[in-house]
Amino acid sequence: MSDTVTREGGCACGAVRYRINGEPMMVHNCHCRQCQQQTGSTSVVNAFWESDNVAISGDLAEAEFAGGSGNSHVIARCAACGTAIVSYYGRMGRLMSGVRVGTLDEPHSVTPDVAIFTAEKMPWVTLPEGVAAFEGYYDAREVLPEASLDRLRALGERRKAGEG
Ligand SMILES: [Zn+2]
Ligand SMILES: [Zn+2]
Repeated sequence: MSDTVTREGGCACGAVRYRINGEPMMVHNCHCRQCQQQTGSTSVVNAFWESDNVAISGDLAEAEFAGGSGNSHVIARCAACGTAIVSYYGRMGRLMSGVRVGTLDEPHSVTPDVAIFTAEKMPWVTLPEGVAAFEGYYDAREVLPEASLDRLRALGERRKAGEG
């Protein structure tokens, strides 16, 4: 990758820290009921990178759920304080990391590309202007830049070849 942007972040107690290279492929603000329950809040904001670009140190505890699509959804949390750090979604296995944007040291450094499952959002939540919004999931090809789609396709090929 040509850019050398790095970001760091970690959990609330400091036992888990991570470092990420490059810009995210995409940033999702998901308002589905499952994300509300798992965060205890209005929605989740996940920024997605190839896991190769995410280096995590510290002990993580994982919990697996059935995701909305029926695929598995694994949430990795700090084993000491329980802060959720990363989600792994079934389709990409462990090849793609959805990092909880609130755990970045500079969470303002990324903004959502898309708000999804807005049909389930809490009724008083106002969606940001200028961010594509969808009542359910979305077609990445309609929203994301070609460079991100290329990176997603590359991960999909690796997954098909049995990785992750
Ligand atoms: Zn912690
Ligand atoms: Zn969700």
